[in-house]
Amino acid sequence: MISPRILVVEDESIVAEDIRERLQRFGYEVADAVSSGEAAIARAAGLRPDLVLMDISLSGAIDGIEAAEKIHEQWDIPVVFLTAYSDSGTLQRARSSGSFGYLLKPFDERELRATVEIALYRHRLEKELKESRNRLAITLQSIGDGVISTDSHGIITYLNPVAEELTGWTKEEATGRELSEVFNILDETTEAVAPNPMTRAIRDGVIVGLQNHTVLVSRSGRRVFIEDSAAPIRDEKGRITGGILVFHSVNERRHLEDQLRQAQKMEAIGRLAGGIAHDFNNITTVVYGQSELLLKRLSESDPARNNVEEIKKAGERAASLTRQLLAFSRKQILQPRVLDLNEIILEMEDMLRRLIGEDIELTLSLAPALGKVKADPGQLQQVLLNLVINARDAMPQGGRLIIETADVELSEGLASEPDTVAPGRYVMVAVSDTGTGMTPEVQERIFEPFFTTKEQSKGTGLGLSTVYGIVSQSGGCIRVHSEPGAGTSFSIYLPQAEEDIPEAGEAEPLITAPAGGETILLVEDEAMLRRLFHEILEMDGFNVLEAANGREALQMSERYQGRLHLLITDVIMPQMSGYELADQLLQRHPGLKIIFMSGYTDDVQVQRSINNQGVMFIQKPFTPEALERKIREALEPQSPQSAG
Ligand code: ADP
Ligand code: MG
Repeated sequence: MISPRILVVEDESIVAEDIRERLQRFGYEVADAVSSGEAAIARAAGLRPDLVLMDISLSGAIDGIEAAEKIHEQWDIPVVFLTAYSDSGTLQRARSSGSFGYLLKPFDERELRATVEIALYRHRLEKELKESRNRLAITLQSIGDGVISTDSHGIITYLNPVAEELTGWTKEEATGRELSEVFNILDETTEAVAPNPMTRAIRDGVIVGLQNHTVLVSRSGRRVFIEDSAAPIRDEKGRITGGILVFHSVNERRHLEDQLRQAQKMEAIGRLAGGIAHDFNNITTVVYGQSELLLKRLSESDPARNNVEEIKKAGERAASLTRQLLAFSRKQILQPRVLDLNEIILEMEDMLRRLIGEDIELTLSLAPALGKVKADPGQLQQVLLNLVINARDAMPQGGRLIIETADVELSEGLASEPDTVAPGRYVMVAVSDTGTGMTPEVQERIFEPFFTTKEQSKGTGLGLSTVYGIVSQSGGCIRVHSEPGAGTSFSIYLPQAEEDIPEAGEAEPLITAPAGGETILLVEDEAMLRRLFHEILEMDGFNVLEAANGREALQMSERYQGRLHLLITDVIMPQMSGYELADQLLQRHPGLKIIFMSGYTDDVQVQRSINNQGVMFIQKPFTPEALERKIREALEPQSPQSAG
């Protein structure tokens, strides 16, 4: 071990020499001996000795006590005083200067040695203590969790920066207060004050975890979901001297969990709704179709006509509900086109103005040269219509309605919230109102089918679920901003489409040529529907061949000698899909026209085939007239304006 280096400060040179000799005899190294306070400070700065032996009364501008204070403060060097005076004033001053001991002249060797050793030892201890305290303080300062410590009565003794941030109290303000005053926690569900875990930790001497669902209310009233635990602090004898509370915000995690739950909920409801809608499709088609056929048979004066009309109306209502459910469950068959959203909005403008009435001012703010989107135009109109109707309903006293379009780039962060769409270029359309707005609780549920806050006759709760289904099926997403009293804004983002708008328009055929006894092969596995369609077709004067599945249809077409004009087939059937059947029949009957019928589909092939030439599609449920119109369209020779 290297010997401690000591600086001696003594203005009487004989005494100084004597001390130096004695110190060296004990094995210390005397770094230097100086005779004034100023010199002592200068040498201490240069030599950095381990200890200074300092005479108190020195000639010069500053005395020993002053010099010692400076040396100790600046370089953390311990000082032992030498003095001839034992008056209490001087000793008091020496003590309060932070000295590490003093020697009364004259002193013997034993005293000198003991005092120096004790001073060196004390200084080493203090230094270690300071270092470990620093380490602890730095750890607590930089830890990612909030930390609060208290004494055994629950009075706060420390708060780290994260705890300051989460509670809204500074360390200075919080220290000395009751923990419950600063760490104010509520039960998330009951809103009751939650029991403070520290109380038990200190009382029972156990580590206590916070209950789940605890909300920390900050000084300013901000709420943070937190999680964590309290533990007792014990001294070396095991006595509890206080407690320590460690906590962190789980807001981010809770947010993600909520999103996931919401997505799963929508998915589950969607599956349920889709399943119901599929079966209901067939039923409502039959109810509606059969009542239509019955009406045709009844004479104008038949008193039963009224009853049948009512049945038909009910069937119509059921069909419309089913369609909305299908839209929500994203099982609808979309017929997308590349189109300009601005054009759609402008086409609807007059109708929308009439719809919202005079008290609501409509403003269009459409971005020039807006990017194109690929979507089903009819469905997009439905989306806009539903949003505008909702906005109108939210402004019974009138107000302002703004429809806005813009090209936007969704970055990674934005795109991931609240539902996932890929980052990229989108076209946005926003419908904003100055109406009643919504509470967060309402906002959470608006996309659920049948969720409505309106009176029974006014709302079905299917408007926004339809919007949701159409938008997500089109690869887009919806954002909602709303505040009670301030209004609501729905923004819809649809992916920008690359292709140009095809020039061909979809001309509605106006021709009502009578059926001329053409032969139709009808394929439908549901007997109830097959009977209905058969009857409709026969009433219209067609020659009908019917089959319950693909295999039967192929056999039938082989046996049939005449010309086959049209195939009307269900798409989803056991064994052979309508699509496969059509492929096989086309090889044998090249001129065959085809109409696919389906209630819903996940089948991309159907989506693709719809866009093929010579192939038509009709979505169940449909009315007899709609079927008749499709058939005419299919059998008519191509009209010049509808040629692609
Ligand atoms: P409905 O309009 O039949 O009630 P929706 O699915 O269209 O069904 O809307 C569901 C609910 O969402 C409404 O009942 C209403 O509470 C709320 N809502 C929708 N749009 C708005 C809006 N613009 N302002 C305020 N609340 C709205
Ligand atoms: Mg609505």
